[in-house]
Amino acid sequence: MNKRRDYLIGKLIASHSLGEGEYKELIELRDDEAALILQKEAVRLRKEIYGDKVFIRGLIEISNICKNDCLYCGIRKSNKSCDRYRLTKEEILSCCKDGYALGFRTFVMQGGEDGAFTDDFLCETVSEIKSLYPDCAVTLSLGERSRESYKRLYEAGADRYLLRHETADEEHYSRLHPKNLTLKSRMECLHTLKEIGFQTGCGFMVGSPYQTAECLAKDLKFIEEFRPDMVGIGPFIPHKDTPFRDYPPGSAKLTCYLLSIIRIIHPSVLLPSTTALGTLEEGGREKGILHGANVIMPNLSPTAVRNKYMLYNNKLSTGAESAQKLDELKKKISGICYRITCERGDAAKNIT
Ligand code: SAM
Repeated sequence: MNKRRDYLIGKLIASHSLGEGEYKELIELRDDEAALILQKEAVRLRKEIYGDKVFIRGLIEISNICKNDCLYCGIRKSNKSCDRYRLTKEEILSCCKDGYALGFRTFVMQGGEDGAFTDDFLCETVSEIKSLYPDCAVTLSLGERSRESYKRLYEAGADRYLLRHETADEEHYSRLHPKNLTLKSRMECLHTLKEIGFQTGCGFMVGSPYQTAECLAKDLKFIEEFRPDMVGIGPFIPHKDTPFRDYPPGSAKLTCYLLSIIRIIHPSVLLPSTTALGTLEEGGREKGILHGANVIMPNLSPTAVRNKYMLYNNKLSTGAESAQKLDELKKKISGICYRITCERGDAAKNIT
């Protein structure tokens, strides 16, 4: 029995909101019982809105070339052991072609901040995908760009943009990034994306170095207030060629706890069960689904580059590039009583 914990859980379930200090307490007071109550409510809400559907997104990792030097990231500029690549437009289109035949109706183009990705190149690629596959959504995850650039990409047909805020705590942000990258600029980008009309996704790593319960509370309050369409969270996993190589990985259990809380804060959110969660723990992705997540992003990148987009050690290549592999994934998901659907899967609207 923990009266305070039960009060906080009751308040969160009833109002989908807590004060920042209360989120901090909910994180600090967590135990198996709290996790179970939150999990049940998260699952109830996602079933009410999305039933047993799990949406799939075909992830195309278009480049591992990056001008940034984020301290946690395996494709950071300073990593001299990273074998760099960049896909051509034809290669990207070929991934979409294969993905479309398999049933994917969302393509996510993700990559480092690669200077070769000019607006012209990206707009041309996006509009070609959209004209070949008008029933598909295109999601971009290409980091910080100017308002002008985001606007052009939106006008070219891109529907969604994923830009994790990484941490909503300024001090923490500055310990994870070099000086030229600021939380202010990241947040400005997120607001701009939303204003332009993108379905916008934010998110953060769980257990990144120097993260405290206070940082996580700020992340949750930010999600509550910003009301993104998507939230990507996954455990931090160290990469051997980064300054954070010796830090421990984040916890799968805490990630699942936070997935449930995020589903309750924002019931209609699209919430991926991430590759990082699947990498950290056998069956991790399924666990994420069982805690309120409703999206999986299998890898559609060409097999030849798969191992080069190494954000962290032993990154799982959750490929569904063949009918056989997609069938395996479908079986795993039906094994936990959910169902992979090939729908485009936009966020449900008009729900708290
Ligand atoms: N460059 C784009 C951007 O900044 O949004 C997209 C690519 S970036 C590599 C995608 C995400 O990978 C980041 O937002 C970060 O949260 C995650 N990531 C990077 N390194 C990681 C690590 N060591 N462990 C877990 N996630 C990591």
